[in-house]
Formats: sequence, structure tokens, C-alpha cells
Amino acid sequence: MGTYARQDIVFVRGEGCWLTAETGERYLDFGSGVAVNALGHAHPQLVAALKAQAEKLWHTSNLYRVEGQETVAEKLVRLTFAEKVFFCNSGAEACEGAIKVARRYHYVSGEPQRQRIIAFSGAFHGRTLATLAAAGNEKYLEGFGPTADGFDHVDLNDLEAVEAAIGPETAAIMLEPIQGEGGIRPASVDFLKAVRELCDKHGLLLVLDEVQTGMGRTGKLFAHEWAGITPDVMAIAKGFGGGFPVGAVLATAEAAKGMTPGTHGSTFGGNPLGMAVASTVLDIISEPDFLEAVRSKTLYLKQGLEGLKDQHPGTVEEVRGAGLLMGLKLKSHITPAQIVKAANEEKLLLVGAGDNCVRVLPPLIATDKDITEGLLALSRALARVARETS
Ligand code: PLP
Repeated sequence: MGTYARQDIVFVRGEGCWLTAETGERYLDFGSGVAVNALGHAHPQLVAALKAQAEKLWHTSNLYRVEGQETVAEKLVRLTFAEKVFFCNSGAEACEGAIKVARRYHYVSGEPQRQRIIAFSGAFHGRTLATLAAAGNEKYLEGFGPTADGFDHVDLNDLEAVEAAIGPETAAIMLEPIQGEGGIRPASVDFLKAVRELCDKHGLLLVLDEVQTGMGRTGKLFAHEWAGITPDVMAIAKGFGGGFPVGAVLATAEAAKGMTPGTHGSTFGGNPLGMAVASTVLDIISEPDFLEAVRSKTLYLKQGLEGLKDQHPGTVEEVRGAGLLMGLKLKSHITPAQIVKAANEEKLLLVGAGDNCVRVLPPLIATDKDITEGLLALSRALARVARETS
């Protein structure tokens, strides 16, 4: 179906941060498949894990215990706030599952009227009907019939608006620590802490969507760690499978208490192939040295982007983001599509976002040399667009 306005490039191979097109041209991948290829392309340990599992067992169904799920769940429980995990295949499914967990929690707690979820304008939680309703973006909802009920929207970082939106039917507050698709818009540390406090005060669940921010992207395993808070429920996907489609809903035992046999399910969720890869991704990314290396690259990339803003004041308005989840907000007469196209011509892949932003999302394994090359290509792309628009 014609759901994508695709660029006319076909990639046939990938290695590290680099992709090779069928023409033989090499591109530096600073989009990471929209924050998915956290370990770059064809990471030898991921390839080995997938091959080894592929020769043993592909699928049995969730009618039986699945060894890989138990392994990955144990790791997630050890590494995060979570005590319970549900596996699925994508970010939208993880967010949809998180919404179900939150509503069901209040249902079994004897407060079935608590069904509404406070969410934030500019958010993105996926393309299912409920996750579209959660984000409330009119553009994506148009033409798809009645919008799923139960979501109240307020502005990010507006604590008073959040407090005013809380009522007797509120079940949860759901947000991305940094809005990715919305244009790399961070929730402030103070805001995240205050939202956690509001949840505690009013008996609400805090649901974090770390589909894009998680798995080391901001230099911590999960972005909420920077604020020193923990959620009750969290959706993850994207980098979790490093390119294999895997997602998960993580929760405290208390928040997950309504999720009893028969309440949720997935044919493919927690498939042995996905679990073999996710287990390896987790082992690599959760290493303190790995995360420390991400943090030091972060500084280098951020400084470089600030330098580009100074060099191209007519094009770049602001540098945004954390870790390797960075964005350039562009001047209003420039569009993200123009920058993405000019970058392509410089053999650099970037991703557009909302709020007139272009995203810079290198694989977490990017070296300083890769980052230097990316910054040089980006500088040439910015100059190219400045020339074309002047
Ligand atoms: N949540 C966030 C924060 C995302 O960035 C995305 C995808 O961009 C999703 C959910 C949806 O994930 P998926 O496309 O895997 O369904």
C-alpha cells in the first residue's frame, strides 16, 4: 500500500554504521533505522546469536514455556525497576499493552471507573487505534473512524495542566521521557520527578514509553534513570531487538496484578529468535563500559552539533536532545525533508521529525571517526540547503 513516501534507495548490505546501496554507494547511517540499529548493522554477536537459535528452534507458541523469554525477562528484572514482563513485537504493541496493564490494574483494584490516561500533545506511541488516540495527533487519526476514548491531552512540561487534568476517572499518566517523533522534545528532570509524585499522590500509574529513548540511546540503559525515578509500567521496542522486531511491556508486580491468564496475548511475542537477539543486545548495552562510552560520544556529538549551529545560523535554530538521540530544530523557512535530502546527497542518512526538526541518531557503536565524518557531511548538507534557499 502507498503508506510510505519512500526515498529511492535500496540498501543491500550493512556493516557497523555503514550501509551499502545496490549502486555500490556507501552511506553513513545516522538514522539507525529510526533508533533501531543500536549496535549498528550485522553486529557479529547478534548474527551469531540469531544463527545459533535459527538452527535450534524458531517457534513453539506461548502455549508452552519459552526458555529465551525466561532468560530475557530475568535480565530485564535484574537491570530495571520491573518485576513482570510481557513480550510483543513492536513499539505500538508495547504501548497498547502498557495501556491495558494500567486500566486493568484499577479494574482489579476495585476502581473500574479509572480508565482515563493523561497523555501529551506532540507524543507518538504507534499506529494502532488506541495508541493513535493516546497521542491525539489529528493528522494520523483522520479518516480512521471513531477515536478510542479515554485519553486527556496536556502540554509537555506543564505540571499545572497535568494536575488540573487529574480526576476520579484518571488511571495513569503516559509519556516519553524525550518525545522522539514529536521533534526531540525532552520532558525536564523536574517535570518527570513531579509527575512521579503526582502519580503517587493520586494513586495513578506512571507509564513511560521508552520505545525510542530506551536501550542506551541517552547514555543510560533507560532515559528515566537520569531523573532518578522509576515508572510503574514501561513500553520498550526498537533498539531492544537491534533490528529484529521485538517489544516488551515491563511493570512492577503490583501494576501487573490484573494481567492474569487470558487477559492479553500474542502469537509471535517472545519468539525464540527475537529472544536470542534481545538477550545478546541487553548483555552488550547494559555493560557499564558500553554506556560510559555512549556518554562520552554524546559530548562529542553534541559539541559538534552546537558548532554546526554556529556555522549555519541561518539554517539551524536549536540543538536538542540527550545522548545519541539528538535533533536540530530548523529555521522556519527550512524543512526537515530538505535537510534529509541534502544529507542523502552527502551520503549521510538522517530522519525527519515533528516540530521542524531533523533527527541525528547514530548507532550506539559509532566511533569518534564516524561522528566526525557525520558532522562533516551534515555541515556540507546544511550549506547546500542554505545555498538552495537563499
Ligand atoms: N513509541 C515511540 C516513542 C516511538 O518512537 C514509536 C515509533 O517510532 C512507537 C512507540 C511505535 O513503535 P512501532 O513503530 O515499533 O510500532
